[in-house]
Amino acid sequence: MLRLTAPNPGLMTGPGTNSYLVGEATSGFIVIDPGPPDAGHVQRLWEACADAQGRGGHIALIACTHSHADHAPAAPMLQALCAQRPPIVGLPSAPTARSGSHFVPDRALASGEQLLLTGTEPHTLRAVFTPGHAANHVCFVLEEDGLLFSGDHILNGSTTVIDPPDGHMGDYLDSLDRLHQSCEALGVQHILPAHGGVMDAPLQAIAHLKAHRLKREAKVAAVMQAQPDGDLDSWLPLAYDDVAPQIWPVARRSLRAHVERLQELAAHKRP
Ligand SMILES: [Zn+2]
Repeated sequence: MLRLTAPNPGLMTGPGTNSYLVGEATSGFIVIDPGPPDAGHVQRLWEACADAQGRGGHIALIACTHSHADHAPAAPMLQALCAQRPPIVGLPSAPTARSGSHFVPDRALASGEQLLLTGTEPHTLRAVFTPGHAANHVCFVLEEDGLLFSGDHILNGSTTVIDPPDGHMGDYLDSLDRLHQSCEALGVQHILPAHGGVMDAPLQAIAHLKAHRLKREAKVAAVMQAQPDGDLDSWLPLAYDDVAPQIWPVARRSLRAHVERLQELAAHKRP
């Protein structure tokens, strides 16, 4: 497994988007999240996927965790460089996706589908559907190595933004539970996020993340109760008073997601 980080560092992308290469020269490679439309990065990915003779572009599949602009736009660029045009796989973007995140893979993955590479050593990449950050988000587990490629669902060093309507907090929390189950069942040892470095102790990391979200949600609920006539703009500085103000425009999206989830929970409680 090899990681190449795209040169797109920033507030939302941390050190840049991590592209991961699974496989080896004998089997060809699966490229996970080729990244933003950066020609230099695409060229480096192509060169890194070399066959036994050192020729680049030995790519069996290009897999996208979701369709955001820092993950998927390089997929057709990389595909076009490869003589055998490897298929782009993932999930099509939902109608709720912003226009810049429209995405149609060559082939849509099935939940739990295993992508196989057979070379000197087998590589089995299992798709785990994880809507929440984006409606078409999917994570991948490399079964032989116990690695979870978490896309933007779990990040290292920053918090995943849930941006309704394509983002959905209830789905995000359910997907965290699904990832916890998958990590337990498949013996995952490390999480490899799309932004930031490798994370150890996946079960603890996921439990911590869920607790963090629910703690924030409890704070949002308390602020809403204290200001029942308020709105997102008046609740924001109170619910995120522990976060730097320059983050608030982004936090406002996740606040909306929390408010929507609280409203959904309240609606379900009604007789
Ligand atoms: Zn994203």
